[in-house]
Amino acid sequence: MSPTPHSPLPTPVSFEFFPPKTDEQRDALERSVQRLKAVAPDYVSMTFGAGGSTLSHTVEAIKGLRANHGLDAAPHLSCMGGSRAEIRALIEEYQSLGVRRIVALRGDLPSGMASIGDLRYASELVEFIRDVSGDHFHIEVACYPEVHPQADDALADLANFKRKIDAGANGAITQYFYNADGYFRFVDAVRKIGVDVPIVPGIMPIANFSQLRRFSEMCGAEIPRWLTKRLTAYADDTDAIREFSTDVVAELCRKLVDGGAPGLHFYTLNRAKPTLAILERLG
Ligand code: FAD
Repeated sequence: MSPTPHSPLPTPVSFEFFPPKTDEQRDALERSVQRLKAVAPDYVSMTFGAGGSTLSHTVEAIKGLRANHGLDAAPHLSCMGGSRAEIRALIEEYQSLGVRRIVALRGDLPSGMASIGDLRYASELVEFIRDVSGDHFHIEVACYPEVHPQADDALADLANFKRKIDAGANGAITQYFYNADGYFRFVDAVRKIGVDVPIVPGIMPIANFSQLRRFSEMCGAEIPRWLTKRLTAYADDTDAIREFSTDVVAELCRKLVDGGAPGLHFYTLNRAKPTLAILERLG
């Protein structure tokens, strides 16, 4: 399909990064942030790896984004494996840095870590953040239009999502997906149970198909058969893959925004090019 001209995208965008651990990764992040901040994102966020030394990487990266780039940078905070005291210390540190937005998650237990920690679910973390810091933070939580892989069923997962909002979350970002109807059905279902917060779709650009497949198996995001077949058929033709996947994801974004999505949150994986290609395609 050839690109069709569109009006500019009238929607806020946010960009998600992961904390760099090596000098090479730090340089790559720096280059990506330089390019992506030209788009004037609403905010950017930095993921959090549960357990030990990875904790400080998020804090350091948040400080860098704020000090060197003047960006509204939101840390992700997951409770898995952490004690109340550790989580409290992080919340207080972010508060003292002037951070106003947190993405609150349960996280997943890293292999080798035995204890799940003091808080079992993201709803308990949201409650804890409110206890420690009142209304200081705008809290985003995760939600799953295609259902979280550990949920008993779709209704139990919806009830859990409501629990997080009732505990004090202000908004949600979805797991990525490639089926716009699933998102709209999810938003309808959520509105029917009385949840009215903004639900921003998480968008995963397709840069590396084998990596995407691995992620999707872990997090339960479905890659439609037609998409898998086309991407597999292109094999090593990276230009064809780039062109096709940019088209597919830009079309998804367009459908979401036209259908009322309140923003787009891009999982950049610290690479500017695939996200910028989609945004350029959208005008
Ligand atoms: P929860 O909302 O706690 O749900 C986890 C599971 O428990 C679900 O199946 C839910 O249905 C079930 N559940 C919840 N409450 C109950 C209850 N009371 N009784 C029974 N079952 C219940 N991971 C990271 O490690 N770091 C990150 O930075 C990170 N960022 C993310 C950002 C986004 C936007 C998204 C969508 C995901 C992110 N993740 C991250 C992944 C996330 O941590 C995993 O998907 C994790 O498995 C679930 O986290 P949650 O916050 O949705 O958990």
